This record gives sequence, structure tokens and C-alpha cells, in this order.
Amino acid sequence: MSSAAPRTCGSPCDTGSPPVFFSTYTRRTMKSLIAEGSELTLQEVPDAAIEKPTDAVVRMVLASVCGSDHHLLEYNIPMAYPIGHEAIGEVVEIGSDISGLTVGDRVLLAGDVGCGRCQPCRSGSIKRCKNGEFGIYGSPGPLGGCQSELIRVPFADFNALKIPEGITDEQALTITDCLPTAYTAVARANIRPGGTAAVIGIGPIGLIAVEVAFALGAATVYAIDLLDDRLAKAKELGAIALKPEEALEKIKADTGGDLVDSVIEAVGAKATVDLGFQLTGANRTFSILGAVHGVDVTLPFESVLRGITVTCDQTTEIPLYWPELIPLVQAGRLHPEIVFTDRFKLDDVKAAYEKARSREPGTIKVLIEP
Ligand SMILES: [Zn+2]
Ligand SMILES: [Zn+2]
Repeated sequence: MSSAAPRTCGSPCDTGSPPVFFSTYTRRTMKSLIAEGSELTLQEVPDAAIEKPTDAVVRMVLASVCGSDHHLLEYNIPMAYPIGHEAIGEVVEIGSDISGLTVGDRVLLAGDVGCGRCQPCRSGSIKRCKNGEFGIYGSPGPLGGCQSELIRVPFADFNALKIPEGITDEQALTITDCLPTAYTAVARANIRPGGTAAVIGIGPIGLIAVEVAFALGAATVYAIDLLDDRLAKAKELGAIALKPEEALEKIKADTGGDLVDSVIEAVGAKATVDLGFQLTGANRTFSILGAVHGVDVTLPFESVLRGITVTCDQTTEIPLYWPELIPLVQAGRLHPEIVFTDRFKLDDVKAAYEKARSREPGTIKVLIEP
């Protein structure tokens, strides 16, 4: 913990209600990655600062680039906003209502946030936050971006978690989004102990989904992707690696025509959603995770006749499954950090995006450090 003296508070003191309780740095400007349309620029902007007594400010230690960041750029949003929603860091300033954190704590941040005080938030369902505080970092809205030197964390007692013992920085970073997102999709796919699962799309989320499917009891997991290096990674986890064009025939033969108990789609394209419907067995579950906004997908009536359950959740409530996931990582049952393949400085963040977008052999997910 820093030994720096508390910063004297500014004009809010005049109201008798200083929002800042303790700080270890002098306000200046910070680097923040700003998106506008499909363009990215690293800009000097005013430091993230406490705005409410329930806020904390965190200095980013490690961040990562997510597929969702690329989707936002593809949506070509005609306004400037700070990007990035996956980060861990060190608390440098806390508001006067913060009780569970102190300056110097190393924390992981939930990629999406709620108030943590209403009944839905307390049960983990932050999307239904009764106080209207649901939000996602790094998107147009009141929150900052996580690919920045400093991050304002609202309701920080709830939305920042001290990194638990036995969890590495890289593992903690996956707990900010991609591990809970993969876990949610797999959990919703109703994995049957001893049963079969298939994951379509072995990007970062799909790769973690393969490991989670095994952890939840699937005996056989098929990993389906076009890229050999990604299939090789899934094979290392024990999956049966298949190219999309061979998947249906191979799985039909393996299962005697029963097909797959639990199918997880992690791409968000028409072809992969169509394949998912084809692979799902009668009265079994198809979980769609890929971003399918604007994608022309239709529900085949044949799937309805076969009693397939379809589930789709495009925005995971990150803290919901922390109590289940953290012990699994601590116990060595999940190794989500295997997704990280490349590391860049924040100054080179545009190169990090290029690398992630390139899908070069060997590149799965990209880390950013200050
Ligand atoms: Zn993400
Ligand atoms: Zn709430």
C-alpha cells in the first residue's frame, strides 16, 4: 500500500460531503483508447476521478482486447467513446462511502456493472438493476473504458473484487468477462454428466467453453473451427477437433444418429448458427452466444419438431457466477489464462487490435499493459 498522504479534497468539501476519502496521486491527464466509428486513437484525456462517494479509481495493471470491442468498431458508432471492458488494477482512490476496499488493493473489475444494492443486483442479475445503474465499460454511456491508465469504478464495493488468493493476474483478467461469458453459455446448454457437448468457434470464449464443458461433466466435447491452430489448442484440452464441413457426418456416426446433448455457438454467423441447429439432438439444448445482432438467422421448424431448446444471452451478468468460477480456478480445474497469446504496451494498443483481428496462427487473445 502506498504511504502517500491523503490528497486534500476540492470544492465538494464546501458542501460538507467530500466524495473522495483517500487518494495517492495528483490529478493530471491519462492515456485512454478512444473509439469513433471504426477508428481508434490513443488520447490524453482528464484523469478518471471520483464522481460519487460510492466510486473508486483503479490504475489499470492489465487489460485485454475482446471480440466485443471489434464488434463495436464494426457497428461504426458515429460518436467518440472510450473502449475496453476487461481490466484488473490497483485501487488508487476511494470514495467516502467505500467500506470493502482500500487504496493499494489489487482488484478485478466486472466488465458490466450494477448498483449492488437492489434485490436483482444482490442476486447477481445486474441487468435488472432497479436503480438503473446497469452499464458496460467501454461503450457509449457514462462509464469510462478499461483500455485506459485509470478507470472510475461505480459502486466499487460491488463491482470491484479483490483478486482472490491463488488467482494469477491473467486468470483474474479472464474473470472480468470471458470466463463468466463462456461459463454462462455452457451452463445454459444443460451439460449432461457423461454426455456430449459441441463448441462451434474456438476463439477465446469457445476455447474456455470447451474446458468448462468438461469441468461440468461432459464426457465428450467436439470443438469445431476452420483454423488448425485453434483446433490444436482445443485438442490439448481433450476435445475432438473437427472442421465445420465434416462435423455433422462425423458426429452422426459417433453418436449413432443421436447427435449432441449440448451445443454452444460462439461465432455469431448464419452458417455457424445453422450448423448448431443441425448438430443438436432431439430434446436437447442449443446455446447461442455469438453476437447475432443483424445476422439473418431463422429458427428451423424442424428443430421445433425435434423439441430443441434454444437459449441466447448476448450480455453476461459478470458477477453472477463468480462464486462458482473462482473456486474452480483456484482448485486448478479451469485454466482460462490459456487464451492469452500476445502482450502489448498501451502505447502500442492499435497494433494489439490489429494482431487480435488478424487471427494469425498462434494468436487467440491479446493482453495490454500500461
Ligand atoms: Zn469482453
Ligand atoms: Zn441494482
